[in-house]
Amino acid sequence: MTDIAHALRDTLLALTRIPSPIGEEAELCDHVEGRLTRSLGGEAITRFHDSLIVHAAARNDAPKIALVGHLDTVRTQHDGPPRIEGNLLYGAGAADMKSGLAIMIELVERLDLDALPCDLTLIFYEREEGPFEENRLGPILDTHPELHELDLAICLEPSDNQMQLGAMGSIHATLTFLGRTAHSARPWQGDNALYKAANFIRELEQREPHDVELDGYLFREVMTPTIVHGGGPRNVVPGQAEVNVNYRFAPGRTAEEAYAELRELAGDQCKIQATDLSPAGHPHAGDRFIQHLMRCGVNGVRSKQAWTDVARFDAIGVPGVNLGPGTAAQAHQPNEYTELDHVFDGYGIFERFFARSEDNPLY
Ligand SMILES: [Zn+2]
Repeated sequence: MTDIAHALRDTLLALTRIPSPIGEEAELCDHVEGRLTRSLGGEAITRFHDSLIVHAAARNDAPKIALVGHLDTVRTQHDGPPRIEGNLLYGAGAADMKSGLAIMIELVERLDLDALPCDLTLIFYEREEGPFEENRLGPILDTHPELHELDLAICLEPSDNQMQLGAMGSIHATLTFLGRTAHSARPWQGDNALYKAANFIRELEQREPHDVELDGYLFREVMTPTIVHGGGPRNVVPGQAEVNVNYRFAPGRTAEEAYAELRELAGDQCKIQATDLSPAGHPHAGDRFIQHLMRCGVNGVRSKQAWTDVARFDAIGVPGVNLGPGTAAQAHQPNEYTELDHVFDGYGIFERFFARSEDNPLY
């Protein structure tokens, strides 16, 4: 095993040994802050709650690149402590996304930052695994206008080193169908709200996915009922039923525009209340830095059929992509693991991205 492979493995194991379920990121944030303070100096680091903005290399009039990762994990069951078994490193967040964090840390500690032709920022943030509104990346971008000047943000969410372009927007809305209660022995005296909800659910079932192509990449729009609540006592015709609808919409429209489409579809069948409006992100496939990253050994390129924080950067005019070494299928799984050789390969991609070469637009 090479020197860097050893270092990545040890760094990743140390990160995975510090539990950081969403809302409890302080200890991991302390650890990363302490380590990067030792290697980069305290003046490089700005702490914002339990998030960090690390100005690893400051350059005026040079391309500005950010590497971005969340510190939190989802809460999952694990049958053993964080550990290594052969090529697999087990632990909560090993794949999502401490594999990416390990690369961010090792990279800034190993790059010759003085020789780097670009401005380089790392963002470690909290509360990614919860609702859009509670995710700390939003307030970080709101309060740090210098981050709006970035030329590229690379989010290192687990993607098996595949480059994922853009992000689907996501809307959650509660649709409330109103009827009239009655005794279930005489249902004709009432108006069953479940039937109204069922009619709308059937409409959604019959709706075809809508494919949208952008920069040559396909995004598939889908509207899905995910939760149904309704009814009270078992012998009462329900007077109210609620359906949560999740609308995943393609880049090219704002969340408000997509929500208007859902409102129109619901029409006067029900009341509707949006509970989450997350914007979409453009693919930016033609961007010169993204084109360069594609040539650095990524494991294929595709559009992202899900929401990621890439969309937050898009919303402030910063092109973003998702590319991370973690084993994607392991995200949010009990006994989550990541494949160490993918982490080593992922490091190589980022090393090449920053290396001097004839066709590197950073130079
Ligand atoms: Zn993640």
